[in-house]
Amino acid sequence: MAMISWKTLDSQQKTVVRVLRHAVQRHELAHAYLLEGPEGTGKKEAALLLAQTLFCESPQDGEPCRNCRNCRRIASGNHPDVIRIRLEQDAATIKKEQIAFLLKEFSYRSVESSKKIFILEDAEKMTVQAENSLLKFIEEPHSGTLALLITAHMHQLLDTIISRCQVLTFIPLSDQAIEERLFQEHQPRALAKSAAALTHDYEGAAALCKDEWFAEARTQVIQLAQRLQLSSEAALSFIYEKFSPTFDSAQRMVMGLDLLLFWYRDILSLHLNRSETVIFEDQAEGLKEQLLRLSEKQAVGAMSLILEARRQLDAHVNSLSVMEWLVIRLGGIL
Ligand SMILES: [Zn+2]
Repeated sequence: MAMISWKTLDSQQKTVVRVLRHAVQRHELAHAYLLEGPEGTGKKEAALLLAQTLFCESPQDGEPCRNCRNCRRIASGNHPDVIRIRLEQDAATIKKEQIAFLLKEFSYRSVESSKKIFILEDAEKMTVQAENSLLKFIEEPHSGTLALLITAHMHQLLDTIISRCQVLTFIPLSDQAIEERLFQEHQPRALAKSAAALTHDYEGAAALCKDEWFAEARTQVIQLAQRLQLSSEAALSFIYEKFSPTFDSAQRMVMGLDLLLFWYRDILSLHLNRSETVIFEDQAEGLKEQLLRLSEKQAVGAMSLILEARRQLDAHVNSLSVMEWLVIRLGGIL
């Protein structure tokens, strides 16, 4: 997991950062926090960051140094006073025994300092028994202990657990933040941008980037846009030979239509001098060429036809028929 700084986290989760930093500065941390929100929004990173901030031997401007013994042991999961519990591999639930282990650890004095932190990931996966044993612990906190519960599905936790914790809600990332994060994870920027624009969700976008199908699908949409500029016939034969076999389910076809929509929206954006919103930014040449031949009105017309095709798919019209209909109409206006 990439480590994150308070500064970076602040650009995505302002409220959470404000609450936590304020509490740290004033030594007013609650005994238990529930970090909740969609996957990929930085909850685990924030928990580790908080642990490092509390244990760091030479923090600077409130940021942990990342270099001292404590920072490094927390990052590698080897700090004796920072205990992490999560789903064991292939397990469906967090069991009572795991919580019992945790409570036992916490019944000892902290090994090296006056603080102990536990981080419980996938908290919603606790069995009810596990939740009840944890509840007792949260209700009667030992001094110097800090509980950080993490979940993407808060409503699956017992209300009694939620009400004993201070809830920190992590908001979904912006498309731009998703793109940036995927890029930092070594995904090609062009793919990351398209995937973020399609899903508005880090996990979904990450899955698309890792799927070879998606890179091919995106390429074919670009090719389709180029064929459409030539003639309906050229585009139709492309649909039969390549596009339709690739976009082989309604769900995939919807994604294909969305990507095609982005293409014409990009042309419209360029007409309106809003190049910062362009999705196919790696296709500057191809877009520029079409920009010269397509008016604003034609781009808007293409977009409405694609949206109409999307509605037909939603109404379960056969994918191939929808594409034939679309290509012939698009040929009429382009
Ligand atoms: Zn440090």
